[in-house]
Amino acid sequence: MDAARPIVPSGFESAPSGEGAPRATPVMEQYIEIKAANPDCLLFYRMGDFYELFFDDAEIAARALGIVLTKRGKHLGRDIPMCGVPVHRADEYLNRLIALGHRVAVCEQLEDPAEARKRGGKSVVRRDVIRVVTPGTLTEDTLLDARRNNYLLAIARARASVGEESNFALAWIDISTGEFRIAECDRAGLAAAIARLEPGEIIVSDALYGDGALAPYLRSLPAVAPLARDVFDGATAERRLAAYFALATTESFGALSRLELTAAAACISYIERTQLGSRPPLAPPVREAQGTTLAIDQATRSNLELVRTLAGERRGSLLAAVDRTVTAAGSRLLAQRLAAPLTDPAAVGMRHDAVEFFVADATARAEVRERLEAAPDLARSMARLVVARGGPRDLAAIRDGIVAAAALAAELEKRANLAAELAQVVRALRRLDPALAHELDAALAEELPHLKRDGGFVRDGSNAALDEARALRDESRHVIAALQARYADATSVRALKIRHNNVLGYFVEVTAQHGERLMAPPLNATFIHRQTLAGQVRFTTTELGALEAKIASAADRALGIELETFDKLAAAVTAAAARIKEAAEALAVLDVAAALAQVAVERHYVRPQLDASLDFVIEGGRHPVVEQALTGDGGPFVANDCDLSPPPSAAHGRIYLVTGPNMAGKSTYLRQNALIAILAQMGSFVPARRAKIGAVDQLFSRVGAADDIARGRSTFMVEMVETAAILNQAGERALVILDEIGRGTATFDGLSIAWATIEHLHETNRCRALFATHFHELTALAANLPRLFNATVRVKEWQGDVVFLHEVVPGAADRSYGIQVAKLAGLPLAVIERAKVVLAKLEAEDRASPRDFDELPLFAATPRPPSPGAAADTLIAALAAIHPDEMSPREALEALYALKAKAAEDG
Ligand code: ADP
Ligand code: MG
Repeated sequence: MDAARPIVPSGFESAPSGEGAPRATPVMEQYIEIKAANPDCLLFYRMGDFYELFFDDAEIAARALGIVLTKRGKHLGRDIPMCGVPVHRADEYLNRLIALGHRVAVCEQLEDPAEARKRGGKSVVRRDVIRVVTPGTLTEDTLLDARRNNYLLAIARARASVGEESNFALAWIDISTGEFRIAECDRAGLAAAIARLEPGEIIVSDALYGDGALAPYLRSLPAVAPLARDVFDGATAERRLAAYFALATTESFGALSRLELTAAAACISYIERTQLGSRPPLAPPVREAQGTTLAIDQATRSNLELVRTLAGERRGSLLAAVDRTVTAAGSRLLAQRLAAPLTDPAAVGMRHDAVEFFVADATARAEVRERLEAAPDLARSMARLVVARGGPRDLAAIRDGIVAAAALAAELEKRANLAAELAQVVRALRRLDPALAHELDAALAEELPHLKRDGGFVRDGSNAALDEARALRDESRHVIAALQARYADATSVRALKIRHNNVLGYFVEVTAQHGERLMAPPLNATFIHRQTLAGQVRFTTTELGALEAKIASAADRALGIELETFDKLAAAVTAAAARIKEAAEALAVLDVAAALAQVAVERHYVRPQLDASLDFVIEGGRHPVVEQALTGDGGPFVANDCDLSPPPSAAHGRIYLVTGPNMAGKSTYLRQNALIAILAQMGSFVPARRAKIGAVDQLFSRVGAADDIARGRSTFMVEMVETAAILNQAGERALVILDEIGRGTATFDGLSIAWATIEHLHETNRCRALFATHFHELTALAANLPRLFNATVRVKEWQGDVVFLHEVVPGAADRSYGIQVAKLAGLPLAVIERAKVVLAKLEAEDRASPRDFDELPLFAATPRPPSPGAAADTLIAALAAIHPDEMSPREALEALYALKAKAAEDG
């Protein structure tokens, strides 16, 4: 609490007593009522120049913001914890609370405290919540990252019948851009979708939040809000959704299941609630068909560092390496596409066509990018205007956006060979009405204030009544200056000034020594005394009073006209909202196509060929991120081939078993192939000489024993949990990357697990896979598994040192070069020499009794695991037949002996 707090608000200190027992004060009653209506929000309760928080809210906010927790008054005999933030810094504190996943209800004073006093001594200033700020429903630029979408996600669940898996529907909205989507999925799909969307806020029903199976997962996510049942009410869902879009039915949205409608309506209801009834413009919901996007789970996303590195930074991620977009909307779309690559070769092909157009036409690319760079963020400006949170600069942004759109459309129309995706863009841009831009331009001044209430944003000469009011206001100011000169003359007080403050309004001020003169005849006929301060005396005059009234009314009138103009323009923008949104999306598509072309040209990417086969041929592939990091130092990146296509006469793809010493480049090689698949399917060109990919539908990537101590789980346990997920889920179209699985445990354990994992991938999953390992023993598997292919990263030994060539070739590594790597790392020479001696001894012993891996029973011949069912079943049946209440002690004892005997015989 700020010590310099000027006014101590009254109301909390003294409870009107009389009955002896403490009672809530009127202010406290009001507070409790408002808080009860917003139970899941921190309540910012306006008191004078502060927003104050009480009770639990105060404790949470004080901790989160690092501000002082104090007490104010008592409630029911107990101290009320309190903290406060000054109104002029509220945004900053709001930011921090939202970033931490809190929701905040902002409660304002709705009348002047003087008004309340007029109603009588005990009257409380009227207050109400004017805005609910939540992480998923923000529109302010200051609270949003321009390069990322900010989604509100609703999860609805269909109750599963016994033994069945639950089914979920998801609906998500970016209120700042109007995007609205719906999808259905199973439990695994739920986690994958959340990993992809990274929603700013998730809403679920109370029931789902409390569900035993799902609760730990939901609680591990940031900003999850459990809501009352009515928000997720399936019976009213369709009606609520239709009402939002002012439609009679939701049929035009396509066939949505009841579950999907429920999730969509929950999103809508929550938005209406947080925006206090106003309805930001949303695109009609688009249903995402299952299986149209490449499924990538959370572990794979973070492991491949798609949008941020393991350290949490954007720099060093795949997104950062390929992002050449020049607009915020383009950057958001690129991130979206990278998070959700497609599986349909034709849809991807359309995107490739657009990129190819800009690769081929360098002039068009440069022109388009230059114009886009100057274009404003249409979608977000419009969203603010529609919810009445926009300012004059948002109007200007719409104007400039429309002008830029027309110029871009003209630029593209000049080209004959426009790709289909770009032709669509042109059509969307052409649907914008240039007249709206003219209207805005005619009305807006050159220099615009941030807030409309500051006025001065309507162009001089555009509105006669406004010009008149402004002239009057400005003229009166001249009159005041003239008046000051006249009074100085008449009183012979040269230092006489006419000043203004908020308490007195305009007044005449002279120093104390001249004050007497003005208060004595004849001057006191003109000058009316108002105030005596230490050094000055202040007066007013009838003339000054009249002038002041005129100035104030002229200024009021001018501002009134400006605000009217603003509302009219905002309404015109709102009326064109649907087209503006489409155009904004089209500009983003354009930006992404040109940007991907830019990176393709810069870094020599090629257009990948995508089809429905199970092929996977990469020639001269490079790692898009490592390659860029290496160009700076460390010499050129060594390109490598990869062919996971089914071998002749086989129906399924191959598994590469990549061996080679530490630091050879195994991990880099594995990841680069996964990243190339992602880039290809999101619609980008790829870092390779040639690429032909049969569309991948699931991508998995795991690293053995990553240093994951931070999460507090055994790293080996994590590794096994994640490997299990892959072996249970991967289908024949999947691409699986397993890097050093089995490293996190003792050698024989690890080797056996890796061994069995490869067999399972080969025989059961039958997917394309890359498996890196330092267990060379595994290379023996190739003799029995026809689609397993041994590859190794070449190294050269040179005068006892190891030289990494980073070149992937067929074959197996013969040894691990661990000691050479240790030497490179600077282990003391004595340790290196000793290790060599130990190694020689171990190898000699190994040769004396060689392990014969060929003798291991092949996976297919593995005996079925024993079923615990049979024995347990007879015991359960016997137990069910016993009725303890009807037994004598002796019978009970006999029954126990019988059970024990049965258990012994079955076991
Ligand atoms: P491993 O997994 O075999 O231990 P990494 O993939 O981690 O090896 O690679 C080790 C280092 O070698 C990387 O940091 C990278 O800088 C370099 N490197 C890997 N592959 C290449 C390549 N193809 N060309 C050039 N440098 C490479
Ligand atoms: Mg590695």
